[in-house]
Amino acid sequence: MHLDEIKISRAIIESYKAKLVDALDVDVAIVGAGPAGMVCGYYLAKARKKVVLFEKKLSVGGGMWGGGIMFNEIVVQDKAKDILDEFGIAYRTYEPGYYLADSIEAVTTICSKAIKSGLRIFNLMSVEDVMVRKSRVAGLVLNWTAVEMAHLHVDPITMRAGTVVDATGHPAEVTRIVERKSGIRLKTKTGRTRGEGSMWAHAGEEIIVKHSKEVCPGLYACGMCANAVFGGPRMGPVFGGMLLAGKKVARELSGKT
Ligand SMILES: Cc1cc2nc3c(=O)[nH]c(=O)nc-3n(C[C@H](O)[C@H](O)[C@H](O)COP(=O)(O)OP(=O)(O)OC[C@H]3O[C@@H](n4cnc5c(N)ncnc54)[C@H](O)[C@@H]3O)c2cc1C
Repeated sequence: MHLDEIKISRAIIESYKAKLVDALDVDVAIVGAGPAGMVCGYYLAKARKKVVLFEKKLSVGGGMWGGGIMFNEIVVQDKAKDILDEFGIAYRTYEPGYYLADSIEAVTTICSKAIKSGLRIFNLMSVEDVMVRKSRVAGLVLNWTAVEMAHLHVDPITMRAGTVVDATGHPAEVTRIVERKSGIRLKTKTGRTRGEGSMWAHAGEEIIVKHSKEVCPGLYACGMCANAVFGGPRMGPVFGGMLLAGKKVARELSGKT
């Protein structure tokens, strides 16, 4: 069979256009394809929510690929072992309560299972603003990451979401935009983002799950971002909290307990 370049181009353009148009009005829009965002997307898709995820980088996985100090092993604690089982990620016991998994297997498996469950991921797209209606976060303003990097004067597009999940990790980018521009008071003690504390693995892991919750009407924090928003210690390459945070937010948004 003769391959026609024009047919190939048309196939890509038509198919992507259909996906993007379909993503303009959804139940939940997640920002950030780190472990927290992808796990959240997996459980929401399984609960039959219409859910999309926007990731600014070329590749998904956020900070999970590099494990700790670029050694591609991650540690997961007892509480999150069930999630590794749910995804079928292999692990081995290092010592009781400390389980080791290969970070490459973890990222690729979570991503693959999430997509097969119905999560639609758009990479290379940056969230540069939010849409606010009646003091509620109602959607996202998106542009190509390449446009942002090249500082080009190109207007973005907008999509509507019943709920936005900020899973952007340390920078808590979406929440900081809301704080800066909307005038909405956040559900933190001060009404503003609290910032992240110094390393304390045990406390940080507990707190991150507790803090993964509603930040203001229409917006949830999930994963590392939650500790930056509500104030909690960083915890190093222990990833159970990210997985549990993703599952918790998905359960809240899908009405499951
Ligand atoms: C330099 C560095 C040091 C770190 N040190 C620690 C540490 O000491 N302790 C610790 O607990 N964690 C640390 N981490 C993070 C660690 O990797 C996390 O624990 C884990 O990856 C967080 O998972 P997450 O899913 O919450 O967010 P991440 O894995 O960070 O994923 C967030 C994703 O959101 C995407 N994103 C961000 N902004 C936007 C936007 N505007 N639009 C679209 N996508 C966006 C990012 O590209 C990324 O893929 C560090 C990360 C970095 C980069």
